Amino acid sequence: MATSAVRAAIEAHGHELVLEAVRTVLQRLRLELGSGVLSVPDEKDIVAKVNRELDRVTTPNLKPVFNLTGTIVHTNLGRAPLPEEAIEAICRVARQPSNLEYDLVLGKRGDRDSHVEEWICRLSGAEAATVVNNNAAAVMLVLNTLAARKEVPVSRGELIEIGGSFRLPAIMSRAGVKLREVGTTNRTHAKDFEEAISAKTGLVLKVHTSNYEVQGFTAAVAESKLAAIAHKHNLPFVVDLGAGALVDLAQFGLPHEQTVGETLKSGADLVTFSGDKLLGGPQAGLIAGSADLIKALKKNPMKRAMRCDKLTLAALEAVLRLHANPSMLVRQSPMLRQLARARDDIERLAKELQPRFAERLAGYATVRVAHTTSQIGSGARPIDRLQSAALVVTPVGQRREAAHRLNVILRALRDLPIPILGRVASGALWLDMRTLEETEGFCRQLNSLVLNEEDGGGQS
Ligand SMILES: *Cc1c(COP(=O)(O)O)cnc(C)c1O
Repeated sequence: MATSAVRAAIEAHGHELVLEAVRTVLQRLRLELGSGVLSVPDEKDIVAKVNRELDRVTTPNLKPVFNLTGTIVHTNLGRAPLPEEAIEAICRVARQPSNLEYDLVLGKRGDRDSHVEEWICRLSGAEAATVVNNNAAAVMLVLNTLAARKEVPVSRGELIEIGGSFRLPAIMSRAGVKLREVGTTNRTHAKDFEEAISAKTGLVLKVHTSNYEVQGFTAAVAESKLAAIAHKHNLPFVVDLGAGALVDLAQFGLPHEQTVGETLKSGADLVTFSGDKLLGGPQAGLIAGSADLIKALKKNPMKRAMRCDKLTLAALEAVLRLHANPSMLVRQSPMLRQLARARDDIERLAKELQPRFAERLAGYATVRVAHTTSQIGSGARPIDRLQSAALVVTPVGQRREAAHRLNVILRALRDLPIPILGRVASGALWLDMRTLEETEGFCRQLNSLVLNEEDGGGQS
């Protein structure tokens, strides 16, 4: 700790962090010395190891990656990349105080939802709207506010699980409502709902089957029909839309995804949807619909525990504003731009990068360009695929050696300053080029690629 080199590190990182690094390094050296692997290193060596350990500890853990998995809105990789306008909006309110909950016209306390509510209403035709942390919270808030200690009928074909932790039956029970299953896995009819509704019913719920599709001999009750049944019994009809597009994606050459406005028109009293799925914004849960019901949601103390912070609201406001002009939106929203990208364009990029990549891996793996398909991800159009092109990295060698080499390559790509992530299929690594926009950064990563033979033990 007293050597001059370490004293400089203390100045930069603080005493505690450096002390911890020194102890970690010395402990490791003692173990290695004890097992006779190593002779006693000199001071310079030890200091270098301490600095490496400090580098490791102080590099940000949460960092950008290249998502070349072919799933565009990838929940594990942070979902939608934000438009520049949203990033600027975040920075503006991050730097200094804002009118988050202060009404500048009336000169008194304001409502943080007000910055986005008008936009959500304008874009969906809703009377009122509110926002919470994510769509899971939105569903929970709606259920708890409108149906606590009551029953909620849901079709057995819609008891969804989204990526591990969102399971509808579990969310319902934690919201304090009783799930009343109706119909069957493949077929649910209007009369199933009619029979399930009683004095104990709190609301009628329809859930978008976001990440699967039931095909074959199927039947579901149309939203307008469900709305009529709910309204006949004076019950709110709620649709958990999940992805929630505010504009028609067909105008960008994409498969049509039911919009929030269409869902409200078909009779839903409330619609819940995510801010970071097809909206291409920050993580948030948006709730749009009738003014009375939104008012009730806002009075629930749960809303306070689920409210969004100023950074999210700033980004969301910017993203909603961009939606007012769909013809520009497809250029401004990185998510939509990537979704709408034509295969020719993607293939051209793949062909341009192929020689460089092939040269880096020469003798170790081959790199070719191949057609593939991307998926939207995050529960939007689960079975539709978009035509795309990929760089396919196939390790050279017999089975075992090739498998080992594939692991070495995957590990090396994960170890890059900006890690490159793809998907593995039949012994090769597929890098879907649809989502690659920052070509220069990608090439810089390739240039610093180091294959380490001892690293082959990792997970593929
Ligand atoms: C994605 C999804 C959710 C959960 O939304 P988050 O924003 O991830 O919390 C809930 N319901 C449906 C139908 C979904 O598709």
